[in-house]
Amino acid sequence: MKTLKILHMYADLLDLYGDSGNMEILDYRCRMRGITCEIDKYSVDSEIPDFSSYDLIYIGGGADLEQQHIAADLLRCREALKKAYDEGVFLFLICGGYQLMGKYYRDADGNDIPGLGLFDYYTIAPESRKKRCIGNIVIRTEITGKPVDVVGFENHGGQTNGVKSPFGKVLYGNGNCSQSEAEGYFEKNVIATYLHGPCLAKNPEISDYMISYCMNRGADSPAELAPLDDKLEIDCRKVMLNRLLNKK
Ligand code: GLN
Repeated sequence: MKTLKILHMYADLLDLYGDSGNMEILDYRCRMRGITCEIDKYSVDSEIPDFSSYDLIYIGGGADLEQQHIAADLLRCREALKKAYDEGVFLFLICGGYQLMGKYYRDADGNDIPGLGLFDYYTIAPESRKKRCIGNIVIRTEITGKPVDVVGFENHGGQTNGVKSPFGKVLYGNGNCSQSEAEGYFEKNVIATYLHGPCLAKNPEISDYMISYCMNRGADSPAELAPLDDKLEIDCRKVMLNRLLNKK
């Protein structure tokens, strides 16, 4: 069976609210199915990796300071990373990582951190540092072909505008902007979201969407993933959905 190869970028700097747990979940869900999952790490000033040799590239979230810290290095990787994305490598991006794949992130002091401009959106933080989108969030996504209510936790000042294809519709919480209807950004090989949590621990369908995409990429006949027992995850999520959606 094919090995699923993941590159986790800036794990030492961008890892808010358990974001690196997303890698543990992908590894676990692969292992349970007999799929080998290899996770390499890349960080600032290392040799530019062959991004195209990976199935999935992951960047977690980070505060403004960490984003500033990695911005120049990320730009250095732009061409190789864009090539991989164009070839269909999956990009999974959380919060700070999500913001930096757009045109720019403007912080509360008005300083622009340049993004890679892979996508058209851009993010601006309000001048007041007190105006942040913080709390639990529920979004409904249809990426798997049927509606899935995804739960997570958001904490961002940045307001992301210009998203043409969101990851989901906000049922509770804020999303791309304060009180917005849309959350995240989606293409068949991109999930970019404000959801920490870590997001994949709470939402098994999203992990499986990515594993399935990676395993079937380039395959003549797509194979179904073997089902796993997700009762615990689904029960936990039901508690959150009841608590948050019934409040409205
Ligand atoms: N620094 C960014 C913001 O506050 C991203 C924060 C994060 O990754 N949680 O908008």
